Amino acid sequence: MENVSKQYEVLKWASLFLEKNNREQRVAELLLQHHLGVSKNEYYMNMREIVPKDTIKKFQADIKRHVETGVPIQHITGKEMFYGREFHVNEDVLIPRPETEELVQHIIELAKSAPNKSKTIVDVGTGSGIIAITLALELPDVEVFATDISEKALTVAHKNASQLGANVTFLQGDFLQPFIEQQKRADVIVSNPPYIDRKDESLLSDTVKKFDPDLALFAEKNGLAAYKNIISQLPKAINQHAVVGFEIGHEQGEPVSLLVRDQFPTCTIKVLQDINGKDRMVVATDL
Ligand code: GLN
Repeated sequence: MENVSKQYEVLKWASLFLEKNNREQRVAELLLQHHLGVSKNEYYMNMREIVPKDTIKKFQADIKRHVETGVPIQHITGKEMFYGREFHVNEDVLIPRPETEELVQHIIELAKSAPNKSKTIVDVGTGSGIIAITLALELPDVEVFATDISEKALTVAHKNASQLGANVTFLQGDFLQPFIEQQKRADVIVSNPPYIDRKDESLLSDTVKKFDPDLALFAEKNGLAAYKNIISQLPKAINQHAVVGFEIGHEQGEPVSLLVRDQFPTCTIKVLQDINGKDRMVVATDL
């Protein structure tokens, strides 16, 4: 089974092996592209080409290591795609998730439909910087700030911003605090904060549990602590009629909406689903 030589056969071997071991199959392509040192386009054009033996060996060894230890393929390659762009990642940051692309998509639409109201955006808990950097590149007229408590995460975010040519001001500190200290006001606040309750830790895969930073995953108060903190800081951080967009856990639509409602009794709140039909975002307008 391991004696394969053409690119599509190598991929097929990996996909079957990953499936058999209950691992995500999508990562095989990322890893193969990485070992071949080719772009996505070249990769798809070379499906029937012979892959050098030593490349196959290294690729298969990495696939096996991923299956055995749970180490994320993104830590082996050092990168992940987000919104069509390649971001550097390591063990200091949460690996970008496709669900977060949907939050970014909604924020872009909102910002474009109300361009005058969306001059300043803050991404709270930016991690690798994916949200802030994507917004800065997609919305060139907007001023983008991003905060994180972790210096190490901000190092990764800085690197991504400079490699992708995004103009983002990174601030170190707790949630919105460093932005408030700048005496600025934002029109849009966006965040994918830690939202997993410790008591649900056993539900996570080893890849997540062992390799994503705890700081990026877990929050006190049934997973709601970060939302509570951010929402309580909002009055000092936003202009009138601001927008806030949170990524949420699939059972947090109601509690997070209630937290926003408590602080902003007249705003409009929507709970939005991801492509899998799960509640995944709370977007509040007219704060
Ligand atoms: N904002 C980053 C992301 O969405 C980091 C999120 C986090 O660390 N909780 O990937």
